Amino acid sequence: MSDRMATKRSVKAGAHAPSRNGSSHRAEEMNPFFIAQEQLRQAAERLELDESIHALLREPLRELHVTLPVRMDDGTVKVFKGFRVQYNDARGPTKGGIRFHPDETIDTVRALAAWMTWKCSVVDIPLGGGKGGIICDPKTMSPGELERLSRAYIRQVGRIIGLEKDVPAPDVYTTPQIMAWMMDEFSFLQGHNEFGVITGKPLALGGSAGRGDATARGGMYCVREAGKALGINLEGATTAIQGYGNAGMFAHALGKELLGLKIVAVSDSQGGIYSAKGLDPQAVADWKAENGTVVGLPGTRKISNSGLLELDVDVLLPSALENQITHENAGQIKAKIIGELANGPTTPAADEILFKNGVYVIPDFLCNAGGVTVSYFEMVQNAYDYYWDLPLVHQRLDQKMTAAFHAVHDMAQKHKVHNRLAAYMVAVGRVAEAVRLRGWA
Ligand code: GLU
Repeated sequence: MSDRMATKRSVKAGAHAPSRNGSSHRAEEMNPFFIAQEQLRQAAERLELDESIHALLREPLRELHVTLPVRMDDGTVKVFKGFRVQYNDARGPTKGGIRFHPDETIDTVRALAAWMTWKCSVVDIPLGGGKGGIICDPKTMSPGELERLSRAYIRQVGRIIGLEKDVPAPDVYTTPQIMAWMMDEFSFLQGHNEFGVITGKPLALGGSAGRGDATARGGMYCVREAGKALGINLEGATTAIQGYGNAGMFAHALGKELLGLKIVAVSDSQGGIYSAKGLDPQAVADWKAENGTVVGLPGTRKISNSGLLELDVDVLLPSALENQITHENAGQIKAKIIGELANGPTTPAADEILFKNGVYVIPDFLCNAGGVTVSYFEMVQNAYDYYWDLPLVHQRLDQKMTAAFHAVHDMAQKHKVHNRLAAYMVAVGRVAEAVRLRGWA
């Protein structure tokens, strides 16, 4: 994570090497935006993309940097920095979450906005990609402080978001309650209710049934299809989950319920736990709710986050942050299937190693696209003011995820490339077509 704070952009459009330190693995690139650009470069090469289209897709179309003064509970004013990046809207309004994180950087937000562009494209929903972030530590803030910060952010970015322009959503450390405050502030600015300006809202305010666990559920549909494609029986398959936020926690419950996975290890930012007998999702969730961490659950052995990745399991679900699987540990990964519920958990060098070792990776912007897919359903329901029941949401989500999975799997087989490159080829190809048809390049 050493380069997480680096925001200097040394790569010019059209330049090929993303690393500022040469190609040596001694200094593997960890800046997520340079990684996103390198991934795109590989796809552009395979697709023989026009240089002008490649140059356009390498950079965000627009970005806004904001400064947010917020009155804290002790009466002082604290000034926060925030960002909103609208990466590409050739296929529709930009779409993507807002993260609250102390390590947020503009380059992380740029990378996440790029990945949102490919994510919406790979599941073939009519949206572009965007992302937002605020540098803050929500764990140390009161509900009142979080509300004032959320409203301050909307007062600044309100001028560039909207139904037809850019539709935010939750991401790391942002919740349905935060979405409700943001929608409310935006509605005040507009002078009327605009539920559709943001997704991931509570059900009482125009949220969609099934949005809460949609990221994990979509991922489980992909793992199910991967199991079929590879001839691996998933019933009782040992599984490790890194991260216990929205994606990881629901993956634990749904992995067991939908696929019969045996989850033997889970972790959060404070460490991990292991039990060969399998971990009960309710017991872990209750323990974390009471103690603030999964660590210490009776009957489990403590393990580290890095140790979790190298466990001898069938399925590995990275569900935390970026850059967890690098050239340093990729060779030690024993899982047969990796379902990336996090954004950007694997570096390009690690991708090559995993591919060579026959590990089947379901890449992030495919595996975790369930969240934005149900967000899109939420936008549609808000627009018609008519709401779907849960079985209909699940059925439509399954259709979208299954079709996307097979488009990527077939592309990988046909071109003998790893799944991430195949996913890029599917997604970038669609965005490039839209760009071309619009006459942008
Ligand atoms: N933040 C989620 C993601 O990374 C969801 C985005 C959305 O629903 O717009 O996919």
